[in-house]
Amino acid sequence: SKAKLFDEKTDIKTSFKDVAGLEGAKEEVQEIVDFLKFPEKYTNLGGKIPKGALLVGPPGTGKTLLARAVAGEANVPFFSLSGSDFVEMFVGVGASRVRDLFKQAKEKSPSIIFIDEIDAIGRSRGKSNFSGSNDERENTLNQLLTEMDGFGNNANVIVLAATNRADVLDKALMRAGRFDRQIYVDLPDIRERKEIFEVHLRPLKKIGSDIDTEFLAKQTPGFSGADIANVCNESALIAARKGNKQVTRQDFLDAVDRIIGGLEKKNKIMT
Ligand code: ATP
Repeated sequence: SKAKLFDEKTDIKTSFKDVAGLEGAKEEVQEIVDFLKFPEKYTNLGGKIPKGALLVGPPGTGKTLLARAVAGEANVPFFSLSGSDFVEMFVGVGASRVRDLFKQAKEKSPSIIFIDEIDAIGRSRGKSNFSGSNDERENTLNQLLTEMDGFGNNANVIVLAATNRADVLDKALMRAGRFDRQIYVDLPDIRERKEIFEVHLRPLKKIGSDIDTEFLAKQTPGFSGADIANVCNESALIAARKGNKQVTRQDFLDAVDRIIGGLEKKNKIMT
């Protein structure tokens, strides 16, 4: 039996409330929720519902979270896979996996397909960094394009894809009727970081009265939502290790230092 290369989730509880900041992006995906819930409203007037949208932005900014929230808000099944999984795959199966994925999504429509790291399969054809044959990746990409062209405008499957490298994508992906909408998901500004802290402080059980999200937002320029989620969790672990009964401002500052240390290490490895 073949290993499954995509994940199927129903009854997703994630909602727009879980996504802090990103007001513009949320407004744009709200429209997609509406297409999924009330397709006739649009098709009755002769409108063509878009098939795909590309979520573009740096790592950890909430692209996956936002895609899941669309599925949660519309209450539709969420089919997801990561482009990088395809790269590691055995030769000759990428295209058939894409076919399977679309078949399942159509059977369960309305539904969402989410392709994370689409650049791993969607890089411009003939311009890959990898040595050796790119036939497998190109076959996979071609199958994806075929599937998107193949389902009619009434299939009610919307394909969301995420990337932090929109510049390397094959232009064919962005053509009308494919990923013809781009939604930017940027790093949070100070006000948004405050909101993200508010979301991620919620699961912490005992927070000191000296915790102030505005202060925390000021201490974390350049942090992504994922980094902030990390800080909140790490601060609870640090407090526990010290034997504290609650999480204090100092624990947060220690966690921030630790995350900055981690980010610096990562950058060193990458450059
Ligand atoms: P990548 O490009 O690395 O896949 P991504 O943009 O898809 O990253 P997510 O996986 O959605 O980022 O974010 C990781 C986690 O960070 C989320 O599960 C959530 O806990 C937190 N997070 C990121 N952005 C936000 C946000 N805007 N509001 C609340 N939490 C966030």
